[in-house]
Amino acid sequence: MKITIHRGTNQIGGCVTEIESNGYRVFIDYGEQLPGAPVNELKPLEGLNYGDVSKSALFFTHYHGDHIGKMTEASADMPVYIGKTALEILNCLESRLAYIPDPIESGKHKQIVERLKTIKTFEPLQKITIGGISVTPLFVDHSAFDAYMFIVEADNLRILHTGDFRGHGFRSKGLFPTLRTYARNIDYIISEGSNIQRTDATSKTEQELQRDFINDFRKYKYNFVLVSSTNIDRIFSLYHAAIVAKRCFVCDSYQAEIMKIVSENHKQYSSFYNIDFEQKSDPAGRFFEINRPFSFNGNLKPYLERHGFCMLIRANEALKPLLAQYSTSTDFKVSYSMWKGYLDKSNSAFSPSLYNFIMPYPDCDMHTSGHADVETLRTVFDTVKPKHGIIPIHTEAPENFQKVFPNQKIIRLRDRQVYEV
Ligand SMILES: [Zn+2]
Ligand SMILES: [Zn+2]
Repeated sequence: MKITIHRGTNQIGGCVTEIESNGYRVFIDYGEQLPGAPVNELKPLEGLNYGDVSKSALFFTHYHGDHIGKMTEASADMPVYIGKTALEILNCLESRLAYIPDPIESGKHKQIVERLKTIKTFEPLQKITIGGISVTPLFVDHSAFDAYMFIVEADNLRILHTGDFRGHGFRSKGLFPTLRTYARNIDYIISEGSNIQRTDATSKTEQELQRDFINDFRKYKYNFVLVSSTNIDRIFSLYHAAIVAKRCFVCDSYQAEIMKIVSENHKQYSSFYNIDFEQKSDPAGRFFEINRPFSFNGNLKPYLERHGFCMLIRANEALKPLLAQYSTSTDFKVSYSMWKGYLDKSNSAFSPSLYNFIMPYPDCDMHTSGHADVETLRTVFDTVKPKHGIIPIHTEAPENFQKVFPNQKIIRLRDRQVYEV
């Protein structure tokens, strides 16, 4: 078996992993680099975008752009897999992005929408075989919904590829039971390490963050929350926080469509995703869709102002007049529920438009990471006990792994290095 990290040994995002056995190849993720990252072009990848692809397959751990962004460059003749709900959410997101004004960007997203029509889906624990290689998806909690780790087996070796995951989300309870049950006799772990630099920080749980939101929603009436439209558990958490604080819930119809996909597919498993989208009389959690020009018209305005609301927003010029209307009120709060790196001028992912949008509202940070903290990584490694070592990916500090986990064998690869095991 050969393991190659084509990109991602030394950076977050843009990861591509290949596991090859007897001419068969499984690729895991084929993402774009994060915006602003130093350019690190991929070389042509045999069996993925040229040459014989008849013995190849591509698996996506989840729908974030740094994992799926280059999917249209994969040969159209090879099978590509992702989780079922993940596919529906991604299709909804990409269909929307296909209409943004920038013709180059919208063209890319149109191509992705076309490619998505041919993608296959898998269920958790469904073993898929590509020649002598098998791939088994294990469900994990991440800031993308319907995300997976993979167990890849070939040549009597078992690899655990973690994808992006965390231990402090609403659906993290299953992490260690799942690993104890299915990730036995693992030879190598290919592990994400987004938070490896923050050695002493344990992440706030989603439950703790939700309690903070409930307190805010009780305190303020006009709550505006800037959150990624596909950070599903955060969004449902905000909905439930609005119910507890007896506030209405407001979002646009695109966001409502995403929520309906999740609700349809998952409400039978968890009441967390069971939302009454019909407008019931009780203002607590009452669901409203509001679209451009984002004004509360007619009877809606006094109703929402009387009961208070949580409204999901994006950094959109069209929303500024609405925020301006409420900004002088002491009952007004804007919360920024996304990664702080976008607002940090020293970070390569700095977003001027987001920064300018949020700048008038200091002390608005209301977020917790989508990635495992160091303690969670440690417990994963101690639970799985890989026989031969851990290969860091999706990290800006792979050198920290050995310092932080001195009892584990850390195998540091370079991008494109072929590691024969
Ligand atoms: Zn990622
Ligand atoms: Zn991710």
